[in-house]
Amino acid sequence: QHEMGWANHHEIMEAAFGQHTQALPPPYVDLAHYYAQGGYRHLQECAQGKRSVESVIKTLSSSGLRGLGGAGFPAGRKWAIVREQPAPRLMAVNIDEGEPGTFKDRTHLERNPHQFLEGMLIAAWAVQASTVYIYLRDEYHACRAMLQAELAALNTQPPMPNMPTIELRRGAGAYICGEESAMLESIQGKRGLPRLRPPYVAQVGLFKQPTLVHNFETLYWVPTILNKGAEWFAGQGRHGRSGLRSFSVSGRVNKPGVHLAPAGITLKELIAEYCGGMQPGHTLYGYLPGGASGGILPARLADVPLDFDTLQAHGCFIGSAAIVVFSQADSAVNMARNLMRFFVHESCGQCTPCRAGTAKALALVNQPNWNVPLLTELGDVMRNASICGLGQAAPNPVDCVIRYFPHEIEGDEVANSPPGAAT
Ligand code: SF4
Repeated sequence: QHEMGWANHHEIMEAAFGQHTQALPPPYVDLAHYYAQGGYRHLQECAQGKRSVESVIKTLSSSGLRGLGGAGFPAGRKWAIVREQPAPRLMAVNIDEGEPGTFKDRTHLERNPHQFLEGMLIAAWAVQASTVYIYLRDEYHACRAMLQAELAALNTQPPMPNMPTIELRRGAGAYICGEESAMLESIQGKRGLPRLRPPYVAQVGLFKQPTLVHNFETLYWVPTILNKGAEWFAGQGRHGRSGLRSFSVSGRVNKPGVHLAPAGITLKELIAEYCGGMQPGHTLYGYLPGGASGGILPARLADVPLDFDTLQAHGCFIGSAAIVVFSQADSAVNMARNLMRFFVHESCGQCTPCRAGTAKALALVNQPNWNVPLLTELGDVMRNASICGLGQAAPNPVDCVIRYFPHEIEGDEVANSPPGAAT
C-alpha cells in the first residue's frame, strides 16, 4: 500500500493541520488508487444488476457478519428488516467510537476510507436509502479532513449513477451519542438522549423514517466478504466461532494496538500471538474484555473465547472488542472506581436508576470498605430499570470486582492503594 501513493495526502493534511504535523495520520489509499486496485467493483456490480439485493443479503448472512459496534446484531438480517419498511428510508453510520479503549474504526478509516465507503454505499443500495449520515467522532480531526476530501472526490467521479446524498456530521464528545438512538437525536440537532424502544430505529429512526444504523467496521468488511466469499470470512474464527475481530488492545503488553485476529481467540492466545507477550516485569492479573462496559475478568479466565455471547456466563461481554490488559501492579478496585466515575460523568441523566444510581455507586466504591449487599442491590436496580445500555452495563465492573477480586475488597489493600493505580 505504501507504494501505491496518496498523491494529495499531504496537501489535504497540511491544509487541515498547518504546522502541526505530529497530528498527521498515516498515508491512506485515496480514490484514484482505490479505483486502480479494482475498488468499487462490487458496488458497480450491484448497481448494474449483476448482483441482486437478495444474493448480497444471503452472502452477508452466510458469512456470519454481525454488528461490530458492540451489539452484534446479524448484518444481513438488519438489512432485510429495514428493506421491508416503507420508503423513504435513511441510513446512519456510527463512527463516534467513544468506548474507552476502542480505536479500531479510526485505524481502518485512516488507512482505507474507500473500502468503508464502498460497503456503506452497498448497504445504502440494498435498503434504497436516499441519504446517508456519517456521524464522526469530533476528536478525529485528521479523519474528518481526509473524509471531506475523499467524499468531494467521490462526487466528481461517482462509482454509480443516482448516488445517495452523503452528509458528514460531527459528534460533540458525548459517550452516550454512541448509543444508536441517541446518535440519531444528535444528528437531528437535539440533545443525545436515548429513546425508549419499541419502536426500533429500523422502523422509526432519523426524522421518523425507517433507518439502517451501522457501526463503521461492519460496513468496512462488506466489500471484502463479497470479494472473498462468505465461507472465507466465516472460516476465520477459532474455537468454534466465525469471522474476524479487530481487537483494540492496550495496557501491560509489549505490542498494544489494533490486532486483526480470529473471533473466538482467547486472551492468552491474543497476548502471545499478536501482542508480543506481557511487558517485562508484569504478570497478567486481569483484563477488560469490552471497554468500560464489558466488565472485568481475572487472569484465570484468560482461556475463554473472546466473541459475542461467549462471556455472558461470566457476567461480561465483548462489545467493540476493546481489551485492556492489567497486571499485578494494578488494582481491579481502582479500575472499577475510575470506570464508575466515567459513567457518572457520561450518564445523560434522563432516567433515575442511571443518573442517581451511578452517583450512589461511585460514593459506595470510593469507601475503603465496600457495602457489598447494597452495591449488589443497587446494581440489580440499575440493570433492570435503566432505559439504555449505559445504565444497564454500568454496574458490571463493580459486580466483577465482587465476584472475581474479593480479596481486594476484604483486605487493607484497597484503603492503602494509590489513587488511579489501575489506570
Ligand atoms: Fe441516560 Fe443513563 Fe438512562 Fe441511558 S440509562 S437514558 S444514559 S440516564
